Amino acid sequence: MDPTLTVLLYASLAAAAGALGALPLLVRGRLPVVGIGWANALAAGLMLGAAYALLVVGVDRVTLSGAAGALLGIGFVYWTHWVSGTAELDLNRLEETSETYGYKVLLIGAYHSAAEGIAIGVAMAVDVPFGIFMALAIAVHNIPEGTVLCSILASRGVRHRDAAGLAVATNVSQVLLAVVTFAIVAATPSLFPWVLGFAAGALVYLVMAELLPECYRQAGPTSIALVTIVAMGIVVLLSSQGM
Ligand SMILES: [Zn+2]
Repeated sequence: MDPTLTVLLYASLAAAAGALGALPLLVRGRLPVVGIGWANALAAGLMLGAAYALLVVGVDRVTLSGAAGALLGIGFVYWTHWVSGTAELDLNRLEETSETYGYKVLLIGAYHSAAEGIAIGVAMAVDVPFGIFMALAIAVHNIPEGTVLCSILASRGVRHRDAAGLAVATNVSQVLLAVVTFAIVAATPSLFPWVLGFAAGALVYLVMAELLPECYRQAGPTSIALVTIVAMGIVVLLSSQGM
């Protein structure tokens, strides 16, 4: 298959996996707050594992330009939070009634997914098997992130199937950025260390600044730390098997 189509296919599958996040709501009706915390911790751990895998692959090719790229990635996420007015927004509030809260959660989800699309695209530029591994890791992580988003939307009166559709819609930026990143890095290989650093920096910053802070309040530090570490460890183990 043409490599760009491979990126498109796997990034699209990863994006679509977000809809599966609505399943726990169909089974249980409504998730307890502690479940929201665990879902975010699971997603956070998978993202840390993905960032680790990127750094291991790039460690002998990425030097100062990679570090500079990481700073840009962190700056990008910070900028998306600032420009959308979500820097200090608690992203998991189920009882929030303000009208703007719903669209801000969708907006921040779209920015969040964009950074992960860059991770898929640059991993595909390393080689296709690693790119597929990255897309699958992001796909699995899109499920708990979809659960969190669907829970927030359902608490605002959105039907479950519409919430599932919106969970996929926020991942469209992931598909777009995966394809664009792959095309740019394939055409300009000298950008590889920058883009790899960018993706890893953005992933780690998203975990630290966006996902984990609220988790600790929702489920307590011990269980959140354990879920995050186990999820990260699974990705680390699987990635080292394939390398
Ligand atoms: Zn994520």
